[in-house]
Amino acid sequence: MGCSFDCVYCYINGSKYAKKTNSYYVKSNACDLVYNKLKKLSRNHERAFLNLGSASDPYMEIEKELELTREILKIFLRFKYPVHIITKSDLILRDMDILKKLNDAAVLPDDLKNLKSRVCVTFSFSTVDDDLASLVEPNAPSPSQRLKAMNILANEGFHVGAALMPILPYINDDSKNIENFVRVFKKNNAGYLIPGALSLFGSSENSSRIKYYNFVKSNFPEVLDDVKDLFYNKEYPSNRYQNNLYRKTAAICKKQGIKTTML
Ligand code: SF4
Repeated sequence: MGCSFDCVYCYINGSKYAKKTNSYYVKSNACDLVYNKLKKLSRNHERAFLNLGSASDPYMEIEKELELTREILKIFLRFKYPVHIITKSDLILRDMDILKKLNDAAVLPDDLKNLKSRVCVTFSFSTVDDDLASLVEPNAPSPSQRLKAMNILANEGFHVGAALMPILPYINDDSKNIENFVRVFKKNNAGYLIPGALSLFGSSENSSRIKYYNFVKSNFPEVLDDVKDLFYNKEYPSNRYQNNLYRKTAAICKKQGIKTTML
């Protein structure tokens, strides 16, 4: 629980998942829980597509020592369950041996039989600029490292793509920036791009709202009022802003021939 990458916009800041992103707890019995659950599912012939990395990155620094994600992948392989991994880290390449075996052996659920691969990897980005990333995602591997890992996994035959989440309002949400994102992702063999708008939660010092406003104030003071106006006290930008953003991104993706869904 929690995540050492400490992205300023991370929704787990101040949420029920963790008070802040610069500390975390290790679920030391995770492997036992996963093993018991999959054993039961498998015995009942229930298939599923499992997801790793929704409220914590599965490849944060401590994973180099713990190898908890690696052990969990071995359990997925033992019971032949396919997986979708979301990460900001190239440490995933360490587990290439298991990912390859899983990609050969896993059994897809009936409703996902058309999926290209049994291991799908989505790298998440809020920018492809390493300098900006060092401010907004201070402890995460750089976008350049992620793009390189994406390319390697795509060349090994995995279904890989990018989650452009969150697109930073008034910083890189204009057409020119989005066209550049799409061009860079395509060049690095992304098979899809899933866009997402920023969300901001809470009001305490550690909340994603206050952390993000402080980041904008220090680095892009000229857009701070616009960002605050966009959110007021809400957790999401207006429907109008979100619809425009998704429409614009979808049109650019269509023009450049990249899908906005994994399927
Ligand atoms: S990598 Fe994901 S989970 Fe980790 S701090 Fe960043 S946004 Fe949060």
